[in-house]
Amino acid sequence: MLLTQLRGNGIDAVHESKTDDARVVVINTCGFVENAKQESIDTILRYVDAKDEGIVDKVYVTGCLSQRYKDDLEKEIPSVDAWFGTRDLSRLLKVFNANYRQELVGERILTNPAHYAYLKISEGCDRPCSFCAIPLMRGGHISRPMEELVLEAKNLAKQGTKELLLIAQDSTYYGLDLYKKRNMAELLLRLSDVAGIEWIRIHYAFPAGFPMDILDVMADRQNICKYLDIPLQHASSKMLQLMRRGTTREKTQELLETIRSKVPGIAIRTTMITGHPGESEQDFQELLDFVEHSRFDRLGVFTYSHEDATHSYSMKDDVPEDVKQERMDQLMEVQQNISLDLNRKKIGQTFKVMVDRKEGGNFIGRTESDSPEVDNEVIIATDEYLRAGEFVNVKITAASEFDLTGEAISVT
Ligand code: SF4
Repeated sequence: MLLTQLRGNGIDAVHESKTDDARVVVINTCGFVENAKQESIDTILRYVDAKDEGIVDKVYVTGCLSQRYKDDLEKEIPSVDAWFGTRDLSRLLKVFNANYRQELVGERILTNPAHYAYLKISEGCDRPCSFCAIPLMRGGHISRPMEELVLEAKNLAKQGTKELLLIAQDSTYYGLDLYKKRNMAELLLRLSDVAGIEWIRIHYAFPAGFPMDILDVMADRQNICKYLDIPLQHASSKMLQLMRRGTTREKTQELLETIRSKVPGIAIRTTMITGHPGESEQDFQELLDFVEHSRFDRLGVFTYSHEDATHSYSMKDDVPEDVKQERMDQLMEVQQNISLDLNRKKIGQTFKVMVDRKEGGNFIGRTESDSPEVDNEVIIATDEYLRAGEFVNVKITAASEFDLTGEAISVT
């Protein structure tokens, strides 16, 4: 959106420019967990050095890190010309003598290949999760109006987008503020009607208060992927309570059963956290057992990061780092076996695959069960030239833990 506004004001802005001839640099930062914060600070320091060497004239910093630590950072890194928060787009434009242009709302300049696009359906979060600093940076939940989202989806489809990835801090809360009810089902229906959109994928669905009606829409509509990214974070009821997730192990299990029975064949992706304060060996074993039995299609695991001003910051960070790490490794090992087993079952079957790119002599794509960057890929053997965004039927011939290999049968 920043790129759209800058270019709409006649400013030649480039995302992650590979050349060093830019005179002005805007760094969009993340402030979520320790690693991300460090990466953001390293990037700021790199450009501050470039400024000191006369390579660039101005360095501006925006995004979550800047929102969260502006006062400290201003003192620590005075060479930065200005700091902006997460809702400061208009103020940031002012330093370029540019104005926020309302008529550009709904237009996007994509920074990833045009055939898929992230569609942010809401901003901020009203949940009280103990470990999470996001509400401190992004503020409370604000849903974007459906009309605006449908307009954006139509504009994206005109640019060649075929897959929409719906994202938010908490996508299942969508509509509660604006329409006084959870309204994801209606949003899905309206997006599903947009011509040219062939896949719609839901990310970051919070488990408590899950809107069950989206499952009917998912089962009914062909262009809504049978895929759900639902971060569960833990399985022990004690830990879920400590983490303030508003659910229990039993309720989580029931929810997973309902999802799988209403949408047969659905791919479920989740994330877990190891080493939250208070996590005993017994809690971890419960989590391990849950992961073993739930057989998620995809799993991401993070070690707990002790973030200031969060609720759990008031607790003692009592699980040693090496234990957090070891627990994460154990979970990933269990998941690797599950993933290999699930992938091997696909050998001999044919899937509709979206081509993402050419790499070496191969084309790489994804099935409906895979989101870009985070999930499995399909390595496609073919003599044909395939274009990014094209769909092709692929018969799977081999499988490893995280990839499938197959032969292109026909372009769909
Ligand atoms: S729902 Fe997600 S973004 Fe919101 S507080 Fe919980 S973990 Fe953070």
